Amino acid sequence: MAKDMTAKPVKRVKHIPQRTCVGCRTVLAKRELIRIVRTPEGARVDLTGKLAGRGAYLHNQRSCWERGLRGALAHALKTELTPADRERLEEFAQSLPEESSPDAPAM
Ligand SMILES: [Zn+2]
Repeated sequence: MAKDMTAKPVKRVKHIPQRTCVGCRTVLAKRELIRIVRTPEGARVDLTGKLAGRGAYLHNQRSCWERGLRGALAHALKTELTPADRERLEEFAQSLPEESSPDAPAM
């Protein structure tokens, strides 16, 4: 009897860097997320993805930023957010939609 049940579902992973949103802990493609970098001047939104420094990622969605700003973001960046950082990030979050738009097709 051929018992072929041992075959594991091998996923052929494409070279898409994946990151975790520190707001909701969802893992997804890096380009779907917004990077926040700890710079010598404080935490900055890095829309180019090119700033050097420790980075953390958040969804393009306000609720994740609000959650992240409650602690997860500072934790991920291994720093404390200064009031100025917080203000800047909150301001950025205000420009984001409440929920992510459902227009992202699965490739
Ligand atoms: Zn999220």
